[in-house]
Amino acid sequence: MARLSDYNAKRDFGRTSEPRGRVGKSKSQRFVIQRHDATRLHYDFRLELDGVYKSWAVTKVPSLDPATKRLAVEVEDHPLDYGTFEGTIPQGEYGGGTVQLWDRGTWKSQTGTPERDLEKGQLKIELSGKRLKGGWALVRMRDDPKKPGRKVRHNWLLIKERDDEARPGEPDTLLAEDTSVKSGRTLEEIAGKSRSVWHSNKAATTTTRGAATRKTKPPAKKKNRARKQKKSA
Ligand code: MN
Repeated sequence: MARLSDYNAKRDFGRTSEPRGRVGKSKSQRFVIQRHDATRLHYDFRLELDGVYKSWAVTKVPSLDPATKRLAVEVEDHPLDYGTFEGTIPQGEYGGGTVQLWDRGTWKSQTGTPERDLEKGQLKIELSGKRLKGGWALVRMRDDPKKPGRKVRHNWLLIKERDDEARPGEPDTLLAEDTSVKSGRTLEEIAGKSRSVWHSNKAATTTTRGAATRKTKPPAKKKNRARKQKKSA
């Protein structure tokens, strides 16, 4: 209630027909996952709650196998405006690297008390995204012993529940999904590298990375010899 206390304090509800301020219980709220090619590639998992995005950095692609849990490091709340961001954060800045909108949709709590569940470290949710669907859980692990002068980062596990959307034995299935749900672009395309690599053979020669690899191509003679050796082996 505290969040609407200003609203309520300014009004006399015996006199005004305005609604009394109550914090709404949304049935569904937004979620986004931003694939972030920073120092290490990770997936920023964000759930809209009470006007912000609660956020975790998931260190590997979300697993559709309930037996394969993913480490999700709790990070600071992000503003809702962040949920549409896709682009490149300059190197040297906080989070420098390319951000891709990898999934989005709505979520709802399985219990109806997500704030309490978050505090307890046991959040059970339903996701209706393009790539993540069905039941999921976020479970907080025991904290590391406090290091003086350092803010503790809580580690959680992101776990797929057993349901029709689960794919037992296939934790890495979603690695194949490498495009943006917003723009259809790959991380490289968002970063502005080799933009036309899929559309033209010529494009490959303009990328510096590609050129460097081609230099190491062995001369034709060597190639033939290698092939002969292979045959006789
Ligand atoms: Mn990140």
